[in-house]
Amino acid sequence: MKKEQKMTLTTKVLLGMFLGIVVGLAINGSGLNCDDTLIGAYVVHGLFHIIGVMFITALKMLVVPLVIFSLLSGVLGIGDVSTLGRVGMKSFGLYLLTTAIAIAVAISLASSLGVGEGANLTSSTTFNAAEAPALSQVLINIIPGNIVDAMATGQMLQIIFFSILAGISILMVGSKAKPLVESIELMNEVMMNMVNIVMSVAPYAVFALIAKAISDLGLDLLLELGSYVAVLIAALLIHLFVTLSVLFKLFTNLSPVMLMKKLRNVQIFAFSTSSSNATIPVTLKTVTDRLGVKNSVASFTVPFGATINMDGTAIMQGVATVFIANAYGVDLGLSGYLTVILMSVLASIGTAGVPGVGLIMLSMVFTQVGLPLEGIGLILGVDRLLDMVRTAVNVSGDATVSVIIAKSEKQFDVACFNDPAAGRIEEVHINERVEHDIADFVEQTHKKH
Ligand code: ASP
Repeated sequence: MKKEQKMTLTTKVLLGMFLGIVVGLAINGSGLNCDDTLIGAYVVHGLFHIIGVMFITALKMLVVPLVIFSLLSGVLGIGDVSTLGRVGMKSFGLYLLTTAIAIAVAISLASSLGVGEGANLTSSTTFNAAEAPALSQVLINIIPGNIVDAMATGQMLQIIFFSILAGISILMVGSKAKPLVESIELMNEVMMNMVNIVMSVAPYAVFALIAKAISDLGLDLLLELGSYVAVLIAALLIHLFVTLSVLFKLFTNLSPVMLMKKLRNVQIFAFSTSSSNATIPVTLKTVTDRLGVKNSVASFTVPFGATINMDGTAIMQGVATVFIANAYGVDLGLSGYLTVILMSVLASIGTAGVPGVGLIMLSMVFTQVGLPLEGIGLILGVDRLLDMVRTAVNVSGDATVSVIIAKSEKQFDVACFNDPAAGRIEEVHINERVEHDIADFVEQTHKKH
């Protein structure tokens, strides 16, 4: 008898991504992506656009309540303030370290290969530099003046600050707060169910997002700036498969291969949405259910990492700086490059993980070292596609550091990590029993009234 093989959600998402690339390339190649064709107007900028935006919006909808409830239950789970402080310091240190290594490797690779040398490039697009926040402002911004405003605008550091404070205050209430603690844990479970429901449509959404991006952008642009793109992607891969994997092995003695396998889902989501922030629900779920990190650590390290840790973005800044410096014949010297490293690391702390933010950080770096801002115009065209790739590296860093910290804090389930099937996200089906329970619940509530 033939055994029925069920495809896992990851396989379906991968398939969605692959089909998205194929369909996108076909539409772009045949010129059907313009709005004066039926396909362009109704499929690419109609259907694909609508599905993609709806999906990203649904993920964003989950981020704030998910972070609040998981952080609250995380703080209540840890139960003491000194452990919290230690987890905070360790993750801050590791996030800075990985970002600094990332950009140092990127600069060394790009300079030794002489990327951009002899390029006679002229900028066709002008780029308006956006102000990057000053360090003092970053510090001040951690405290929310108005928590509703912080939630409405998704200020992650402010939300983290408020939730931790609230968690500690609940702990201070003592045993009287038991019903509240239980409710928070239940709400956390409810939020996770919402993530499951949204994720069950991911294969279609990923298909739509990628098909639209590739139909609009094509891949030809990538070839035009071939050397920049190739060195950047090489540096991103080195970071993923060498730096992060070696650090992971050193700190945890666990298998980096298993880590990378289980991160595939998170990487695809980051690639499709170009936003570490929008990927938080998926990262959190993968880190806790698939990689075995306890919520007490993950609920802090994941949203914190999405905001302050951007290894992929830092790598882009390193390669872009060398590329533009060489293309304009500017010699930055060792001190120039050290400034670039420092600025990139600092800039990544103050900026949120949303699409395109890397360019804003780059303008800050360029201003600091005196590179012409119009240089950014040269790489602007390819940035949308490269943003997808570097966001996948950004979230991989967040997840890797989360496991390292959880292991060191003994907030980690090794068996779960080593089990390839652990926490695999299956599609959500509201089965008959659940339907029956819901019907009963509704009937009883009606009777009461
Ligand atoms: N899109 C990136 C992120 O969300 C940031 C960037 O490099 O632009 O992590």
